[in-house]
Amino acid sequence: MSTVIGVLSLQGAVREHEHALAQLGVETRKVRRPRDLDGLDGLVFPGGESTTMSKLLNVEGMRDPVQQALDGGLPAFGTCAGMILLADVVRDTREDAVNFHALDVTVRRNAFGRQVDSFETDLDVAGIEDAVHAVFIRAPWVEQTGPNVEVLSRVPEGHGEHTGAIVAVRSGSVMATSFHPEAMPGEKRLHELFLRECVGI
Ligand code: GLN
Repeated sequence: MSTVIGVLSLQGAVREHEHALAQLGVETRKVRRPRDLDGLDGLVFPGGESTTMSKLLNVEGMRDPVQQALDGGLPAFGTCAGMILLADVVRDTREDAVNFHALDVTVRRNAFGRQVDSFETDLDVAGIEDAVHAVFIRAPWVEQTGPNVEVLSRVPEGHGEHTGAIVAVRSGSVMATSFHPEAMPGEKRLHELFLRECVGI
């Protein structure tokens, strides 16, 4: 049976993830309804707006099914808003926002500042040979990590108060980045890392 990776398709950068995964030869499925979760080998939580996704998760009756799938060990990869959704604790979000506690980290939403403060930089990422050009758009960062969380990347020197901020993590079969690898044409290495380390293919 071929590998099928779902992309949570309630809002956000769905197409970009589908494209990156397709380039790696993996079948993708848009996940909008509970039955779309059946038989998946992994689920991608895209960038977008975590509070909007929260509302839609509730409205579409997806919150509990996604929680159950994650609790059952479904491998997951979240980027930006997706990282927020997977986190254990989220700072600076709405009271009623959803997060799935799938990754033992505390993240701060919009930590790098507002839209105007979005920036790009080259990152070293554990498990990837050459630097990754990262785009941060109203991105969260990771403020605390649990004992089983591996830090994959931090903002390098030269970025003032942002230097040292944790921007990519993995714990078991769950991985997340503050930035948007899917936004860089031809950048498939983070998705490849997810498939190799988290999904196991
Ligand atoms: N600031 C957004 C949020 O809170 C995330 C931004 C993004 O995914 N580009 O969800």
